[in-house]
Amino acid sequence: MSYFSYRQGRLHAEQVDLIQVAEEFGTPAYVYSRAALIDNYQAYAQALAGTDHLVCYAVKANSNLAVLGVLATAGAGFDIVSIGELKRVLAAGGSADKTVFSGVGKQAYEIEQALEAGIHCFNVESEAELRLINQIAERHATRAPISLRINPDVDPKSHPYISTGLKENKFGIDIGEAERVYAEAAALPFIEIIGVDCHIGSQLTSLSPFVDALERVLKLIDRLAARDIVVRHLDLGGGLGVTYRDETPPPVKQYVGALLERLAGRDLTLILEPGRSIAANAGVLLTRVAYIKENGGRKFAIVDAAMNDMIRPALYDAWLDIQPVDTGGRHPEGVYDVVGPVCETGDFLGTQRSLAIAAGDILCVHGAGAYGFSMSSNYNSRPRAAEIMVDGEHLHLVRARESLEDLMRGEQLLTEPGT
Ligand SMILES: *Cc1c(COP(=O)(O)O)cnc(C)c1O
Repeated sequence: MSYFSYRQGRLHAEQVDLIQVAEEFGTPAYVYSRAALIDNYQAYAQALAGTDHLVCYAVKANSNLAVLGVLATAGAGFDIVSIGELKRVLAAGGSADKTVFSGVGKQAYEIEQALEAGIHCFNVESEAELRLINQIAERHATRAPISLRINPDVDPKSHPYISTGLKENKFGIDIGEAERVYAEAAALPFIEIIGVDCHIGSQLTSLSPFVDALERVLKLIDRLAARDIVVRHLDLGGGLGVTYRDETPPPVKQYVGALLERLAGRDLTLILEPGRSIAANAGVLLTRVAYIKENGGRKFAIVDAAMNDMIRPALYDAWLDIQPVDTGGRHPEGVYDVVGPVCETGDFLGTQRSLAIAAGDILCVHGAGAYGFSMSSNYNSRPRAAEIMVDGEHLHLVRARESLEDLMRGEQLLTEPGT
C-alpha cells in the first residue's frame, strides 16, 4: 500500500497534507512516511519468520538518524560501508552486534573501531583486507568475525553503475579464488570465519540473477564444507528493485520464498541487506516551481530542487514520477523538462513530462526515499534540503535545512604570506 495518496485533489503523506509541509518547512524538502518504512521492513521480517535471519538495512540508502531509529526499533540490523555509518547506527539506537560492515576500502581506523564496537561481521572484499583485519584483531587480542564477499559473476541486468557482481567489477573476491582465500582465512589465528557474503547489484527486477548467485554460492559452501570450513550464515546482500515507473520487481515475499526454497535442509542463518526496497517508496521530494520558460520550442519548469538534492536522474538516467501536489490548479497542460538551478545541462529531475502547472506550484518527486538525500551535496553552494518524517497526523523535522553558515563551516582564508 502507498502511504502517499491524494485526498480531495491534494497529495498527503499518511494524514498530512503536503502543501502544508511545504508551507511550514519550505522547499526543497524530503518527506518520509514512518508507517511505510515499518511496512517495508516488516515485509522482510514476516517473510523470514520461522527461519534464522537478520535483516540488515543498508544504511547508505537513507542514513537519516530518525529513519535508522524507526528501523532499529522495529528490530532491524544494519549494513554499513563506513565508520560514519556505524556512528549513525549507534546514535540511532541500533546494535553493533546486528551490524555487518561491507565495502572495498575499509581503512585501518575503521576496522579498529568496528572491532571495538563489536560488530557482527566484516564482509571482507580482498585478501589484503583480510590480512589487515587479522593484524588489527591480534593487537586487540581477539578474533574478528568475517565472511568473504564473493563475486559470483552474475549479470544483474541493472544499470552498469549499480551492477556489482560481475567478474570485472571492483567488488568482492572472484568465486574461482574463494576456496583458496577461505583456506588462507582459516589459517589466520585472529580471524573467525562465520559466513559467506555476496551482493550483486541494485534495482534488480527479476529473480533469476538472485537465484543464480545463490546457487553458485551454495556450491561454494559445499566445497568449503568438504575442506572442513563450515559457515554459519549466508548473506545475500540487497538489491531488490522497486517500481519507479513500470518495473515489476517480485514482491518481497516471493523473493524471500525463492531463496528459502533453495536453503531448505541447510543449517544457515540468512542475512539480507535491503536498502532501496525499504526506503525508496517511503519518501518523496517536494520542490517548488520557480519559473516556467521556453527555449527553442522546449518548455522548462525550473524548480528549486536540483541534481545536488537528487542526483539519480543525472547519474543513472533514473526515471522518477513527478506530479503536482495540488491537482486543483486548473493550469493548461504542457510538456516540460523539470530542471533545477544548477549550472549543468545534466541537472534535471525529469524530461518531457505532461504537467498542468504554473510558477509557484509545489511538485512531488516520488520514489525519493532511497539514494536521495544520502547522495546529496552542496554543489553550487546550495544548502542541503530539510528532511521531515510524517507519523500519522504528526510531523517531525528530522534534519533542519542547512543554513548558509553551514556551507562554509571549517573553511578559512589564508592568513600567512602572500595573503
Ligand atoms: C548498496 C548495498 C546494499 C543495498 O542495496 P539496495 O539495492 O539498496 O538494496 C546492500 N549491500 C551492499 C554491500 C551494498 O553496497
